[in-house]
Parts: sequence; structure tokens; C-alpha cells
Amino acid sequence: MNKTSILGVPVLMYHALDSPARPAGAKDVGEHRYILKVTQFADHLTYLYREKFKSFLLEELLDLGTWPDKAVVITFDDGHESNYFLALPLLRKFGFKADFFITTDWIGTDRYMTVDQIRELHKCGMGIGSHGVTHNFLSNMDEGEVKQELRQSMEVLSSITRGRIVSFSIPGGRVQPCLFAAAEQLGYRIVCASHPGLWKKGDFSFSIPRLALESGTDMNTYKFMVNGKKAYINKMLIRYNILLFLKKSMKTDSYEYFRKYILKRI
Ligand SMILES: [Zn+2]
Repeated sequence: MNKTSILGVPVLMYHALDSPARPAGAKDVGEHRYILKVTQFADHLTYLYREKFKSFLLEELLDLGTWPDKAVVITFDDGHESNYFLALPLLRKFGFKADFFITTDWIGTDRYMTVDQIRELHKCGMGIGSHGVTHNFLSNMDEGEVKQELRQSMEVLSSITRGRIVSFSIPGGRVQPCLFAAAEQLGYRIVCASHPGLWKKGDFSFSIPRLALESGTDMNTYKFMVNGKKAYINKMLIRYNILLFLKKSMKTDSYEYFRKYILKRI
């Protein structure tokens, strides 16, 4: 077993990109911290290219016998139109691939990708996965509603790509216990979560950790992420678990206050 097979592969989580000519928008104000400048994304890909990283689609990596060193997975959540206008040209320029998770009710709405744009991503060799129908948190749904989100979004996306949809990313990272069995039953092979960590070969593929890129992520932090620096990953995990505890035990206003406090200190 090589180093990557033991330590794992970073699965990066992006959302919208922003440029002066095409300012980003997000349905949820809370997501503004996830909007990156297109120049930041270009810097990330330049680094990966120079350091000879190779990007893989999630399903490709799942089926790959040996995971090479310097492997990385790039994912985008929500289906922002900037994924098509800003991310795709850069990915193609550097020869990288990415998986795009689409919220199907948002297709063709203001600042979100259209059917044709999603189809074009797919034609260019990008992965298309589901991010649910409504983006409502699965944790607030009963089993029937969770299955409906999984099934309906899969149907919509497979009719767009005329292919199988095998991956799902959990809206807001809010897990519902029945999700994994329901996803497997419907034919999904991969579920991406939002807790930080590296994807280790042989791990349960229905709760893949991801590393979130935020507007404030600087290049040094980015290098820690893609190189899987253990101290950094552990720090992110501690921060995530503290925030998760606060999220469960506080009202939204107090949570936002403490969240800012913790992000400054950890
Ligand atoms: Zn989302």
C-alpha cells in the first residue's frame, strides 16, 4: 500500500465563484462565506498543476485499485451558474475534473445553472451528482421525504445527463439516520458529507469527509489541505465538532455569535 492509500485523498468542497463581471449570488446568506474569487480558484489549480496532482471523479477513485500519490477530488455544491461560466473553463485549461452536485429545484433559476449548462459539464467529462431537490435539511424530514429527495433528484439529473447518477452530497451536511440505507437502495454508490477529513481507501463510501474552501482560506491553508497535513486536518475536526455541538444546543443567533468567536481562535 502506498502513502495515499493509507493517509487518504483530500475531497475539496467548493460552492460559487465570483468575478467582477459575474458577481455570485447564493440563496442562503449563510453561504456567502463559501463564495471564492475566481482568482483564488485559479491559484488553487495552478498549484495543483505545478505540483503534479491528478484529479479524479469520485466514482473513478472508488473503483480504482490503487490510489496514486498526489490524487485530489474537486467537488462543487448547489449548482451555481459560476460553476459553468467560471469553474469549467479553468478546469479544462489545466486538465482537471470535478464533481458537481446539483439542487434540482434550483435548475434554471436566477444565478443557477440551466439544463443545457449541466449537460455541457457532463459532456466535458465532469461528474454530475445530486444535492437533493429542495436543499431543505434531511435532518428535518421523515423517511418518506428523504427518499423522495433522493429519488426525484436522481430522476431529473439522469434525464439531463442520459446516464446514471451515483453520487449525492448532503444539503447543509445535516445527516438523517435513514439516509444511507435509502441511498444504497436507490442505487447511489457515494454520499459526500461535510465533516473534515481525508477519504481513506476502503472507508464507508456513504459518508465521505470533505474539506470546505471558504473566502478566507489562504494559500498556506490550501496547501495543508491538499497535502493532507495531519495537524491541520485534526484542528479542522476539533473545530467542526465544537461547532456541531453548539449548533445542536443553541438558537441560531447565539450560535452565529459563538461561531465567529471560535473561528477566530481555532
Ligand atoms: Zn448546499
